Amino acid sequence: AKDYGKNNYQFYSSSNAEKGARKMELEMALQKAIANNELELYYQPQINNTTGNIYGVEALLRWKHPAYGYLSPDEFIPIAEETNLMLSIGEWVLTHAFMQKKKWDLAGKKDIKLAINISARQFQYSDFFPFLQKEVKRLQINTAKIELEITESIMQNIEKATIELNSIKRLGFQISIDDFGKGYSSLSYLRSLPIDTIKIDKSFIDDISHPKHKGSLAKVIIDMGHNMNFIVIAEGVETKEQVDFLQKHECEIVQGYYYSKPLTSDELEKLYL
Ligand code: C2E
Ligand code: CA
Ligand code: CA
Ligand code: CA
Repeated sequence: AKDYGKNNYQFYSSSNAEKGARKMELEMALQKAIANNELELYYQPQINNTTGNIYGVEALLRWKHPAYGYLSPDEFIPIAEETNLMLSIGEWVLTHAFMQKKKWDLAGKKDIKLAINISARQFQYSDFFPFLQKEVKRLQINTAKIELEITESIMQNIEKATIELNSIKRLGFQISIDDFGKGYSSLSYLRSLPIDTIKIDKSFIDDISHPKHKGSLAKVIIDMGHNMNFIVIAEGVETKEQVDFLQKHECEIVQGYYYSKPLTSDELEKLYL
């Protein structure tokens, strides 16, 4: 079976010089990836844990490297972030995710929510918001069912983040906090920022199966999220035990290999839409 949902290329332990050479090689190849049509978006379903219906999808970027095959964004996004490549890659992702959403809307699948990852660097570019604005207008997309996933790392500059997020909300987008609980930022930002959703980091989901912890932090995050009227999504859900725990504690949306790996748009349409 195809398994492009997961990284299929690994670093083998190598010297710093070899790692540096590989990084430079990837950086050079990445500069041509857009023009050579090597980027692709996969979509991982998010499932309503009560009804079993699809709630939304998260767009996940893949790079089909001419020699190495599919690379995980965990390997090339950090490289892109060190250069200004992240700006063009981020714009490519936004445009292509918007076009896909528009296609689904026109096919009558308007309810499906689409989540798009925004890296910290991308969020900080001065061109980020103007580009969003321009694309929303140009493509005439309905932003209400599009959610931008940011991480707590942008809270380092809370004043700027507040202004930026309020502008994004005015365009109609929803905001979610990815990898929630993994950053060590203070929680006070939750009161002042326009947040719709929190995604519980996978490490807390893994802890559900831990003999001592038994998901105690996952439960705390779910309860807190509900008290603050956020939608709470559990990610990296792999086992029945985790699904049952999340159901018991009323975590409404789950995402993970238990239900589905990231899929191509064709596979997603066939299986879910
Ligand atoms: P993330 O946003 O936390 O995405 C979740 C990652 O966990 C994805 O890895 C997904 O394939 C994987 N995953 C999903 N379910 C499971 C599960 O049950 N078990 C396990 N072990 N893993 C699961 P992926 O696609 O390799 O992406 C890695 C990271 O790269 C993402 O983490 C996100 O931070 C970043 N990324 C992906 N696409 C984009 C993008 O378009 N733009 C930006 N800026 N970052 C992206
Ligand atoms: Ca994400
Ligand atoms: Ca995440
Ligand atoms: Ca992550």
